[in-house]
Amino acid sequence: MNIPEEKVLEQVNQFRDMWSLKEEPIQDIFLEAVNRNFIVIEFPSNFQISGFFVEKKDRDKMFNCIYINSLEPVGRKNFSLAHELYHCYFYKSNDTICGSKNRKDPIEKAAELFASNLLIPRKHLYSLLKKNSIKNTMQVNTKFIFALQKIYKVSFQAVLYTLKQMKDNPDYEDAIPSNINSAIFTKYYNHKYFEELTSLTLSDDKLNNLNSVIPRFKLPDRYKDILVQNYNGNKISNDELKEIFDFFEESI
Ligand SMILES: [Zn+2]
Repeated sequence: MNIPEEKVLEQVNQFRDMWSLKEEPIQDIFLEAVNRNFIVIEFPSNFQISGFFVEKKDRDKMFNCIYINSLEPVGRKNFSLAHELYHCYFYKSNDTICGSKNRKDPIEKAAELFASNLLIPRKHLYSLLKKNSIKNTMQVNTKFIFALQKIYKVSFQAVLYTLKQMKDNPDYEDAIPSNINSAIFTKYYNHKYFEELTSLTLSDDKLNNLNSVIPRFKLPDRYKDILVQNYNGNKISNDELKEIFDFFEESI
């Protein structure tokens, strides 16, 4: 099954309607998902997994659960979450897990395209570049890409892919800097250079962690709230609460 790009773009619009999102950058997609009762779990995994989505039945209730691999950079994790949301609302994955090994599957490709257009609304980026007359004034260097990453909260590679895609699109190409030479950046698609990119990013802005890996164990917020409620109701002891939070390296 091939899913045409126009269809995916339509699905992005449908999704924005469902979640009442504007065609703008999403500040914290994890928070948006948690606010809509998604159970999001994160922990590090070495098995080329980006994430997966499952519907879990608990008595008569259904829960949407998303796992995200925290061994991937922060910007990529936002993308993985958007990708898994596609599986939740549109087409389920043919595989149990989503990762680099099944990127050629048409549903996986559609989920990637969905994530890209959801997180980087093309019209928004187009007007931003136009407004600042970026085309003729801006040298496309790492600093420029970092700046766009910070606006859209995505990975370096996601920005690069988008700029290249827009350059080939007659609707947008007049805003894309002509001097873009993406070849010089392609090495950053390779895991071998991830650390180099991380330090380059942090030396540009020490608060920009989008290219950093933070291999955390993240307890779903819903469980955290239930634990604290139980503690406040004297159902579990201080030590028990502390033990669970310590395991997830979270502060109470
Ligand atoms: Zn997938």
